[in-house]
Amino acid sequence: MRKKIIVAGAGHSGLTTAAQLARAGFDVTVYERLAKEDLGYDWYDAVNPNVFRVVGCPHPGEKCIPWKWRQDITYFGPNTAQKHKIVQKFKKPEDIEIIMERKDIYKLLIGFAEDNGVKMEYGVTIQGPLLIGDRVVGIATDHGDIYADLVIDAAGMNSPVRKQLPDCLHIQRDILKNERIYTYRAFYDLPVDPKSVEDRYKVMFRPDPCEDFSLSWITTQDTYTDLLIGHMTPMSDEEIDDIAAWYRKTNPQLGPNRLRGGQTVPIPFRRPLSILVADGYAAIGDSAFMTMPLNCSGISTSIEVSKILADAILADQTQTFSAETLWPYQYNFFKKIGQGLAPIALVKDLIISIDHQQTDYAFDTGIITWRELTITADQHSIWNFLHFDPKLPKRGVTLAKDKELLKRAAGTIADTAEFLAWLQVLPRRYSRAAVQRWAKEYDAIFTRRVKTYFPASFYRDEAEQNSKERNVTYENV
Ligand SMILES: Cc1cc2nc3c(=O)[nH]c(=O)nc-3n(C[C@H](O)[C@H](O)[C@H](O)COP(=O)(O)OP(=O)(O)OC[C@H]3O[C@@H](n4cnc5c(N)ncnc54)[C@H](O)[C@@H]3O)c2cc1C
Repeated sequence: MRKKIIVAGAGHSGLTTAAQLARAGFDVTVYERLAKEDLGYDWYDAVNPNVFRVVGCPHPGEKCIPWKWRQDITYFGPNTAQKHKIVQKFKKPEDIEIIMERKDIYKLLIGFAEDNGVKMEYGVTIQGPLLIGDRVVGIATDHGDIYADLVIDAAGMNSPVRKQLPDCLHIQRDILKNERIYTYRAFYDLPVDPKSVEDRYKVMFRPDPCEDFSLSWITTQDTYTDLLIGHMTPMSDEEIDDIAAWYRKTNPQLGPNRLRGGQTVPIPFRRPLSILVADGYAAIGDSAFMTMPLNCSGISTSIEVSKILADAILADQTQTFSAETLWPYQYNFFKKIGQGLAPIALVKDLIISIDHQQTDYAFDTGIITWRELTITADQHSIWNFLHFDPKLPKRGVTLAKDKELLKRAAGTIADTAEFLAWLQVLPRRYSRAAVQRWAKEYDAIFTRRVKTYFPASFYRDEAEQNSKERNVTYENV
């Protein structure tokens, strides 16, 4: 009999994993709370076109779905005067991404899933996992309980499946305050000739006067301007309007009339989840915090990772889908992608911990260069930050002039080295005790220094509140 697989959530990771498994003969159903026509936000995204080939999905061009090449990005620190900018420089054309409307990405991926025999169930809200002991055996939904041999959790950052797994699995359920960013995005009218705009894709670190870290972009397209505002705490509508008005003073391309979008969405802004598998369960995509922790992109990575997950499932000759037989997924994920992706979270914590002045200093004195900033939506390697540069000694001397910045940068390098060393002892074979030991130290590498950077309230509130509800303590996560 064909094994039955549930995919929780019709996001990019869920759809591509489902397609590959159905193609291999599994009985796969995707359960999604939204209606088909409501899937996807009202904006475009940057993706690496090569990932479609990795999973056997047609290129959008083959399906007559519109796409175009992305523009290069110009980066600014808080000081957005022209002479302080850093311009991205791609060495290879294949590193450049394409942009597509998110609704069109869904059209492509749903077509890919359906063509391979995936069954799609829309309008079904998943309430949590069904368990026998600590094995996941299905999902509880508003349409009743549904059982399967394996549940793939692709239900996003706040997945109700992951959040209700039993304590003994040690799979982190709650995200902390410094580990996600709230992003507002909308398209506005374009009151000027786009050709008169010097930097058509501006990304700015700490551009507004808000004390906490913020990240924004203003992208000038041919007929509208795309605004993204990312803050560490939720923003009210008034705050968003104030920030947009602040940008308008120096960016005449940003008109006052909102044309599209306007949602605020939280994105994981952290390292990947430390344990991805349990008996009958595997987490992927935003549910496993696989976004790139600097620019928060996650589409290309989650599609790429879906191949690693599908391969591990196909290789499970016992078809028991236990934590042990699914373990090669976690092992290969960390060895191929997690090893580059996770330490970027340490760089992110360094960046969000320094103030406006220090950020400007790093931009203006050459501590940060175009090499570090030539990052793309599918970029998942710390080696973009750690590379040979003949100017390194000079940059080191400049860094040493700001003692606090030097201390923090040295801490980030030490933590990165510790992570890379710890990755070498990631268990090759699954044993619950060994895996949990590995995961505890992995999480500690990423959280202990953060506690010295921020007041406890910055990263602790949400966990404390959740710990009261679910009897978990911060120290355990
Ligand atoms: C403003 C913004 C811009 C971005 N731009 C880019 C970009 O340019 N490039 C890029 O690569 N990434 C970008 N990202 C990140 C990207 O959106 C995510 O990383 C990616 O969508 C993750 O895919 P996923 O499959 O993990 O999950 P998701 O896309 O989060 O999908 C999860 C699915 O599960 C469903 N679901 C959730 N809960 C339930 C439930 N209880 N019951 C049933 N279904 C449920 C949801 O409705 C959703 O369809 C951006 C994100 C934001 C917010």
